[in-house]
Amino acid sequence: MNVESPVRVEDKLYHNRYLVDIGHPHVKVRAHTTPSPQLLALLKACPARCYELNDNGQVEITVDGCIECGTCRVIAEPTGDIEWSHPRGGYGVQFKFG
Ligand code: SF4
Repeated sequence: MNVESPVRVEDKLYHNRYLVDIGHPHVKVRAHTTPSPQLLALLKACPARCYELNDNGQVEITVDGCIECGTCRVIAEPTGDIEWSHPRGGYGVQFKFG
């Protein structure tokens, strides 16, 4: 019986490289005092864990590790909770293994 070790998402993401476009985040969270259900969902839905709660209980994003999967776009852009666009040319994730 061939038993393979499980592959973790974090291990796969480690191989990617990112060119950060400093000062030009391609995803922005709408200013809020209390996060909407959509924003709270992003804390668990983003595979790269770009979304976090800050000390005030608001959802923040750090786009440096974004793999541009579009999950947050589907969840929170229609409600206006985030603004999503592709990074400027040459910036963003650079996949090493497809
Ligand atoms: S596009 Fe994907 S990886 Fe990037 S912030 Fe949204 S959910 Fe996370």
